[in-house]
Amino acid sequence: MYDCMNSLTVRIFGGVFLIFFLAMGMVLYGVWTYQRDRLVEQTSRNAIQTGLVIKAGLHSSMLLNDRAATMATIHNMLNLEGFSLITIVNIKGKVIMSSDPAYIGVTLDKQKDAGCLVCHSGNVGELRPTVIMNSDQQSFIRNVTAIRNEPACYGCHDAAEKNVGILVIDSSLDEMNALIGGLARRIILTGIGVFLLGALLLHFILTRFFTRPLEELLVGFGKVGRGDFTYWVDVQCGGEIAQMADSFNIMSRAIGRYVGEIKEGRAEVEAHFTIVESLSQTIEKKKLKEIVVDLLSKILKAETVSLVLPVENKDGVFEIVNIHRKDKRHYHLFFDLASGVLPECALTQDDIQGLVHHNYTRPVFSEDGRKLLVPVQQKNMKIGLVAIVKPAGEIFTSSEKKIVSVLSHHITISFANAELYSMAVTDGLTLLYTKRYFLRKINEFVDRFHVEKVGFWVMLLDLDHFKEVNDRYGHPVGDQVLALIAGVIRRNVRHGDIPCRYGGEEFIVLHRGEALEDAVKVAERIRQKVADHVFLIDDIPPFSKTVSVGLACFPHHFQTGEEVVTAADSALYQAKKIGRNRVVVFDQ
Ligand code: GH3
Ligand code: MG
Ligand code: MG
Repeated sequence: MYDCMNSLTVRIFGGVFLIFFLAMGMVLYGVWTYQRDRLVEQTSRNAIQTGLVIKAGLHSSMLLNDRAATMATIHNMLNLEGFSLITIVNIKGKVIMSSDPAYIGVTLDKQKDAGCLVCHSGNVGELRPTVIMNSDQQSFIRNVTAIRNEPACYGCHDAAEKNVGILVIDSSLDEMNALIGGLARRIILTGIGVFLLGALLLHFILTRFFTRPLEELLVGFGKVGRGDFTYWVDVQCGGEIAQMADSFNIMSRAIGRYVGEIKEGRAEVEAHFTIVESLSQTIEKKKLKEIVVDLLSKILKAETVSLVLPVENKDGVFEIVNIHRKDKRHYHLFFDLASGVLPECALTQDDIQGLVHHNYTRPVFSEDGRKLLVPVQQKNMKIGLVAIVKPAGEIFTSSEKKIVSVLSHHITISFANAELYSMAVTDGLTLLYTKRYFLRKINEFVDRFHVEKVGFWVMLLDLDHFKEVNDRYGHPVGDQVLALIAGVIRRNVRHGDIPCRYGGEEFIVLHRGEALEDAVKVAERIRQKVADHVFLIDDIPPFSKTVSVGLACFPHHFQTGEEVVTAADSALYQAKKIGRNRVVVFDQ
């Protein structure tokens, strides 16, 4: 209700109608009073004239002193419409003739009678020709005409008198009142008619040219406020409001364009941020592969993403990391070019052949716009290839296409960094982690212990009588043996263990967890597998080697990394001492 009263339409209508109503009322009141005064004036004038006519009619009969003829004239006059009483009063105030017989003979006291006081109050003798009188709640016009004394009258009247009497004629105001009533009715009806017509016209003009266009504009503002910049305000009224609507439409389109650009820019910045944030999560190649497929799947809203990379030291073998939108799990698949059996993924054999033959130098979209191939490469160094496939019925949008080169660039740099990092932390001969990496990891493990309260084992391994291999077959063969034993170690540690080359023919494994039996189990398995391995190198007769292992636990044995390594070394020394090819747990 309050809102309704506050609406612009109601306010304008209310204001304009009030002014209109007051103006109309004033005009009609003016017309009514003017017409009423004119009617009264005209009635008075008629009464005076009638009085004169009656006086003339009575004159002759009075001169003849014919009372019957005079009374007959009075009655005849009374029959004329509008007269209620005709009376002749002599100068002594006595009613000598009257249309009302009850009056005849009555002597009026001009000092007391109400009918006389109207004219005779104060200055006696001065007659006002017509007055409106009120008697018994009735209004009438009293017309008083003096009957002059003249020589013809001297027979009956004293010549010294100026007047012989007065003629009093009362006229009814009914007719005038009826006219005034009729006038008032007409004026009121005319007023109502004009008011209704005016209101209708005003309503039409206001709604057509003012309130409706404003409402339309208001709808437009509401739409813009809610972020809809496509709404077109059509006011169809011309003038300033139409100009305002045109300006509004131009403005909303411009804002829409700018908002679109800002949104696009923000989406790009967010995408860049996501790319950088995701790719900077790790520098390790293994994790990076999964992050890359996740990232591409998310940013490009793909159905399937497949990343193919050549497997190190294995010609013609490729690792494929695959992710599907519905599944979300990472599948690490392998493809051997020689076998020609490609696991199910977004790549085709032709795609992989293209990678082998360096065919891709930049992102390539399929003809139907649903598949994209992005090479991961730096200068001439081919790292891999990614295939991204959109869900059925969808194609890459222009903004997605725009971001592809940025993605490709960042992914390439990340893989290049991961490659460099991998080279920095991997021993070239054994492909195990370096000692420096081990030292960093052991400190990390110590720090994690303080948070997660999970300790670790250090396994120190030293090949038994390795010097003999060098001495017997030469240093290069010794190197090959070292690489092969490293492979045995790598294959027999658990997921999460960190195998490193600690020194010449010494290896060290970080094993997370404090259970003695688990650590011993891993160490024993390595020892056994090394012992079981038969080296078939060139034409050298097959031979085997053994390894001794020393174990120590953090924080069970010591509370610093260095002390635990020293303890493992001491256990290793013990293993060597008591016969080699065995696992010894540190015993303080
Ligand atoms: P044990 O440990 O059982 O006491 O006897 P060992 O013969 O293995 O003695 P030690 O561990 O002291 O000898 C290490 C030898 O390993 C010395 C060196 O000739 C050899 N060696 C160390 N690093 C390399 C390497 O990178 N390549 C090759 N081929 N040999 C290495
Ligand atoms: Mg040694
Ligand atoms: Mg040794």
